[in-house]
Amino acid sequence: MTAFHQVTARRGNIIDGAGYAKALRDRLAAHVANLKAAHGLTPCLTVVIVGEDPASQVYVKSKGEMTQAIGMESRTIRLPDTTSEDELLKIVDDLNRDPVVNGILVQLPLPKHMSSLKVIDAINPDKDVDGFHVINAGKLAVGLDGIVPCTPLGSLMLLKDAVAAHGDTLAGKSAVIVGRSNIVGKPMAQLLLNQDCTVTIAHSKTKNLAEVCQGADILVAAVGRPKFIAGDWVKDGAYVIDVGINRIEVATPEGPKGKLVGDVDFDGAKDRALAITPVPKGVGPMTIACLLNNTIKAFCLQNKLPVPEGV
Ligand code: NDP
Repeated sequence: MTAFHQVTARRGNIIDGAGYAKALRDRLAAHVANLKAAHGLTPCLTVVIVGEDPASQVYVKSKGEMTQAIGMESRTIRLPDTTSEDELLKIVDDLNRDPVVNGILVQLPLPKHMSSLKVIDAINPDKDVDGFHVINAGKLAVGLDGIVPCTPLGSLMLLKDAVAAHGDTLAGKSAVIVGRSNIVGKPMAQLLLNQDCTVTIAHSKTKNLAEVCQGADILVAAVGRPKFIAGDWVKDGAYVIDVGINRIEVATPEGPKGKLVGDVDFDGAKDRALAITPVPKGVGPMTIACLLNNTIKAFCLQNKLPVPEGV
């Protein structure tokens, strides 16, 4: 049983991502307080947002609030969507050189006239708290300690906790990840491989996807399509991590209403799964909690301090 398991509240087999994220933030707040008391220093996260995308604005606001809530310094740089790529690269360069800034996050997606790969590549890998820089992706691929992308890291924490709660281990399990993006699918696959799972990465060209999923002890969905994974694609007793966040419209007596759903048909899957993350309140809250986790790790490495246990 891991320390994480002791703080996780569960309703039946539904993994309480929101509760787990809250407990993680509480532990991080204690680390921040200890760092302040011992060294008089405060970790600082700077988020850069370009343009007015409403979903990105909500995410950035929430990242800033949660950074402050655990006692860290939060800075936000808001730029108009007329900003040129060169101007953004100059700002990233300034942040790389600023000794007060420990973590840099450039909110994606960027406007179409910018290359997100080029911008991410410009971030100092030691301050790349999203873990998207090729140096951090490479470290993960070869099993070195680097900064791991937040959503897969949070998904792994929930999965480890759920597996431990059943007195089980990840080693040797067959894991299927549906989705191969650089930010979720691929790093998730690397993390599970590093945990000695036998990993399959499925994508839009995968044949017989239902059958592939039905063989999975661990099924991770990162597709971006509402309820795409049908209930009967889930093996009895599988662990299911639903990364997807999709907004759909549902009819209500008051008229159509927006609702968030995952990539998995939750109602169809929940009685087959041994444990399953809901949407919302599953993986989503873990992403920001792991961003804070990564900022503390980056701060400690930059200041040559020991990284607190569990971070
Ligand atoms: P991308 O669009 O970058 O990748 C989607 C992946 O799904 C691709 O690899 C694609 O395959 C695959 N795919 C698409 N259609 C099919 C299909 N019919 N059959 C099999 N595979 C398919 O998405 P992201 O990885 O960025 O995000 C995935 C989901 O996770 C989204 O809902 C997103 O909102 C959510 N998300 C949630 C986060 C959180 O905090 N919880 C954070 C990040 C993302 P191919 O490569 O062949 O095109």
